[in-house]
Amino acid sequence: MNVFEEAISRIEELGRLGNFSKEEVNLLKEPRKILDFEVSVKGKKYKAYRVQYNDARGPTKGGIRYHPDVSLEEVKALALWMAVKCSVVDIPFGGAKGGVKVNPKELNEEELEELSRDYIRNIHEDIGPSKDIPAPDVYTNPRIMAWMLDEYEKIKNKKVPGVITGKPLELRGSKGRDYATAMGAAYIFRELIKDKVKIAIQGFGNAGSHLARILNEWGYKIVAISDSKGGVYDEKGLDIDKLIEHKNETGRVSGFSKDISNEELLELDVDVLMPCALEDQINKKNMDRIKAKYIIEVANGPVSLEADKFLNKKGIIIIPDVLANAGGVVVSYFEWVQNNMGYYWEEEEILEKLEKKMVKAFNQIANVVEERNISYRDAAYVLALKKIFEAEKLRGRL
Ligand code: NAD
Repeated sequence: MNVFEEAISRIEELGRLGNFSKEEVNLLKEPRKILDFEVSVKGKKYKAYRVQYNDARGPTKGGIRYHPDVSLEEVKALALWMAVKCSVVDIPFGGAKGGVKVNPKELNEEELEELSRDYIRNIHEDIGPSKDIPAPDVYTNPRIMAWMLDEYEKIKNKKVPGVITGKPLELRGSKGRDYATAMGAAYIFRELIKDKVKIAIQGFGNAGSHLARILNEWGYKIVAISDSKGGVYDEKGLDIDKLIEHKNETGRVSGFSKDISNEELLELDVDVLMPCALEDQINKKNMDRIKAKYIIEVANGPVSLEADKFLNKKGIIIIPDVLANAGGVVVSYFEWVQNNMGYYWEEEEILEKLEKKMVKAFNQIANVVEERNISYRDAAYVLALKKIFEAEKLRGRL
């Protein structure tokens, strides 16, 4: 099964658990709109997508990913998860996602800008603050959002900061957006885990590096971290500030402490494993070697369907992506609110609002987990889908 088929299979199973009708489940089996196109840079063409999955609860929202493995199936799965995620944390958005099948590391700055502007030229009719609002994802960042915003505003001949989130502060981005995903995951971590624990983090990009920094500042011990080139391990706990310096200087985490492979990191005897890289990292090949007691999915879809079932049976607690990494979209929502009202909050205010949203969603889900003795993922999905179907009914589409 590919990642989208797995996502749908999950929804089908939830139909039974949530007592949803066949019509309700069927409604979520395909996206409302798929834009399938090509972007070109100096005559070379790259496959590109924008998928608007479900808009019952509001304009669709979701990041744009640049990665050589991007496929329509992956973008569809990510868009569906965005719809669920926005419902989990109760923000007034539906779900979307975009992607370009490209290795951005092979492009220079000028080519990256051309690619990003062409992406917007292809989708500008279908996005907007009350239609569909893109944001960064893997290998896209505030610099890229700035080019995209500029291209959109050039085409529309007016300022529209609310068309895209994750922008640089100077272009009406939000304070706290750069580390919001990590901060949201850290708030969940703090609600869930009260003891002293050993943590391993896979991925040291936006989500992973901020998360390591925050948890380290809060006094937790991180024993292992990896990036795409390999990982490092120190039983006594890694010095995160020095590791960040090392990564900035050398472009990798390896070489900082005892080197380990990515596979080894996932299988370490730690209390908490926090995948912050890509999907399908824990699957049937390695699931029986996972020793962590908790897995907090900061990446989207890091645990395959089969592995999820297997680990649940083993009693491992998994906090699903749709809750664990929702901090990013929550502060994206705050960015959009600030853009729409033209007034900007201080960082403290944003963090306070973010914490409230994350803790509330966590507690609602934890209550269902306790009442029904189901997994955090099932509880999150049941609650989220109920809200989506209710909105569909009120619109008369169900
Ligand atoms: P990023 O591009 O900043 O970082 C990705 C990191 O993963 C890099 O350190 C890269 O080296 C590492 N990586 C790639 N392949 C790897 C592998 N096989 N093993 C170990 N490390 C590997 O991306 P990001 O924004 O940090 O996103 C990471 C994950 O978090 C993605 O699944 C993304 O969808 C999810 N996410 C991010 C945000 C956000 O606001 N940034 C929000 C929600 C979800």
